[in-house]
Amino acid sequence: MSQVPFVDLSWQHEPILAEITQAIAQVIEQGDFILGQAVTELETAFAQASGAEFGIGVASGTDAIALGLQACGIGVGDEVLVPANTFVATLIGVLHSGAKPVLVDCEASTALIDLAAAAQAITPQTKAIIAVHLYGQMVSPKELRDFASTHNLLIFEDAAQAHLAEREGDSAGSIGMAAAFSFYPSKNLGAMGDGGMVITSNPDVAKKVRSLRNYGAHRKYFHVDLGTNSRLDTLQAAILNIKLPHLPTWNQARNRAAQTYDHLLQPLKNKEIFPLENQSANGHIYHLYVIRIAQNCPLSRETIQEQLSAQGIQTGIHYPIPCHLQPAFEYLGYKHSDFPQAEILSQEILSLPMYPGISDSQLRQVTDAIQNLF
Ligand SMILES: *Cc1c(COP(=O)(O)O)cnc(C)c1O
Repeated sequence: MSQVPFVDLSWQHEPILAEITQAIAQVIEQGDFILGQAVTELETAFAQASGAEFGIGVASGTDAIALGLQACGIGVGDEVLVPANTFVATLIGVLHSGAKPVLVDCEASTALIDLAAAAQAITPQTKAIIAVHLYGQMVSPKELRDFASTHNLLIFEDAAQAHLAEREGDSAGSIGMAAAFSFYPSKNLGAMGDGGMVITSNPDVAKKVRSLRNYGAHRKYFHVDLGTNSRLDTLQAAILNIKLPHLPTWNQARNRAAQTYDHLLQPLKNKEIFPLENQSANGHIYHLYVIRIAQNCPLSRETIQEQLSAQGIQTGIHYPIPCHLQPAFEYLGYKHSDFPQAEILSQEILSLPMYPGISDSQLRQVTDAIQNLF
């Protein structure tokens, strides 16, 4: 029995390794390591691919959230609606902007933010909602726009898991005032180190992020904003420029693998094991393929995960502890049962191996292994 890793980037990298090496050599030759030509090229290409006017490369997805929000005029005294089940970086980004995160429960079927619950959490201080396009599926653009216009809120997208995802004809990153992306290596578009980007179609927001990432300078040694040092490395941008043209194909491969999983998992429904809902067909780019092992399944999630691991099949849990129950955020004042759906999900979800290039036989190996436990 062969191993099935959780993520394997070698299928992506092998065919383009020579081009990547050449692109790195070119940066070394040009010596433009900070905000060089490759950064500008990636900013233009990635924004365009995502349906926005401007891209601004930053050091990470976390910084893209913090600086993006700041550039949208969100900060101290403002409240921002954030789903409770997201990677903690969403919350950290909001806190670094100076604003107060207000957590909101999610929908059990998709794990995406519950907009009805979000409406209940609005106060006179609420300025924005962060739509986290979790696991590669966008929050419905139509519902999000209706929600934001009804309540007069700014939309900010955390698209760190949703590069080129689509829903209802819209691209991830094109529906809000601004959006944050991460190029962490295992993201759908990953660098060989850290990286991130803010995209926006608002020229003022773009200008502000450009300043904030570069010590708040509008021109060299003329500092207008209280900025920081958060730039996307030219070397990383050069690597990402090679990868970007392949992203649609890689996303399609993930979507196809997910459809195969969906099919192979059908017989496990009667064991209370089933995938989260895909409400966006081929627009779902499956950063992660997440199943639920419901409480009334005869086997516990822990047992299933252990047994798979014993057979060389790696799985993950995204995420085992919802944000409001993390020790670091205790001071925000949340407690157990504040967000029942997020808490149930955190106990039931399991992420199966997913990456472009995963073979049908590997997919079958995973689902057969689960099936054989019963
Ligand atoms: C990865 C991720 C981030 C943070 O990105 P980094 O580049 O690791 O800082 C933020 N939000 C979500 C939803 C993520 O998955």
